[in-house]
Amino acid sequence: MPTEKRDYYEVLAVSRSATEEEVKRAYRKLAVKYHPDKNPDDPHAEEKFKELGEAYDVLMDADKRAAYDRYGHAAFAQGMAGRGFHDPFDIFRQEFGGAGGMVDAIFETFFRGGATTDHEGLHRGSDLRYDMQITLEEAAFGMDTEIEVRKLDTCAECRGSGAEPGSRTINCPTCGGRGQVMSGGGIIRFSRTCPRCRGMGQVMERPCKVCKGDGRFENTSQIKLKIPAGIADGSRLRSSGNGEAGIRGGGAGDLYVVIHIKEHPIFQREEDNLYCEVPISFTLASLGGEIAVPTLEGKANLKVPAGTQSGQVFKLRGKGVVNVNARDRGDLLARLLVEVPTRLNSEQRQKLEEFAALCGEENTPLHKSFFDRAKDFFR
Ligand SMILES: [Zn+2]
Ligand SMILES: [Zn+2]
Repeated sequence: MPTEKRDYYEVLAVSRSATEEEVKRAYRKLAVKYHPDKNPDDPHAEEKFKELGEAYDVLMDADKRAAYDRYGHAAFAQGMAGRGFHDPFDIFRQEFGGAGGMVDAIFETFFRGGATTDHEGLHRGSDLRYDMQITLEEAAFGMDTEIEVRKLDTCAECRGSGAEPGSRTINCPTCGGRGQVMSGGGIIRFSRTCPRCRGMGQVMERPCKVCKGDGRFENTSQIKLKIPAGIADGSRLRSSGNGEAGIRGGGAGDLYVVIHIKEHPIFQREEDNLYCEVPISFTLASLGGEIAVPTLEGKANLKVPAGTQSGQVFKLRGKGVVNVNARDRGDLLARLLVEVPTRLNSEQRQKLEEFAALCGEENTPLHKSFFDRAKDFFR
């Protein structure tokens, strides 16, 4: 060993009473700083990074931490060396693997030394995430739909038991039915979940040929999904029990469906209200009349009063999106944009010139008010 091994608490710069959360935070901060990819020119970075991984590995594991607190590095001096610690790059990858429940689920598994267990001690399947794109109309009115998810389902051949039909269940030969095996050496030995039976204590005499004894098989399932009217972008729907199947009788995980609402060509949504812009001709704005405005349920008529200005907003009450909780509906806010005619022919130009000659200040109230306010600037 080249140098004296540093104290794990010192490596992570945490106190001896640090909580798991504090250890985790300290690790995340330092591991990013010393990751060898970020420090290609520092020969000590990798060493530091490995040291951090080891400290984290020990302090996050209650058994290892207790042993370390009592015996220091001697706890891992014999037997444990080399296989006692997880690979520091694996630890990093698990910690920063990316967003989403699946990574978290793997992470939990990783540090608990086996699949997560439910209240009866059975191995529960992982939760899964499914990202789903829907249209604004589908979000506004809700829908019943079916999605296709490829995941581990209960094996149909053995109905999840993992046993070849007709075969018996026997005590696990690796752990003798205790579900735990001892590892380590020297002063302290650890008991850990038996890798063969995963802590169940029992294995199949002849495992199922289809699922190789796991009781699960990768399968494509159709899952029914009810999307409530008024659902917001980014909402997460839980489809209970539709995650990964549990192992040999354990409960299934849940499926989380994350909703993404596609951009709409006409409407923008803000909570329960919808917004749209409707161009109208300057003659209609001036003379007044009726126009058709698009809504999620087809067109609606809107009365445009004579003298409507560009940018004026008109409210169509109750034509927005249903509130997902309260059931009342938002409004549609139509912003009218007065369009100036382009490419006039000679007759149109002549008529407009005649019209301009007839116009006075009373025809352009905004113009008058603006120049009244601005007159000081024109002196
Ligand atoms: Zn099977
Ligand atoms: Zn076993």
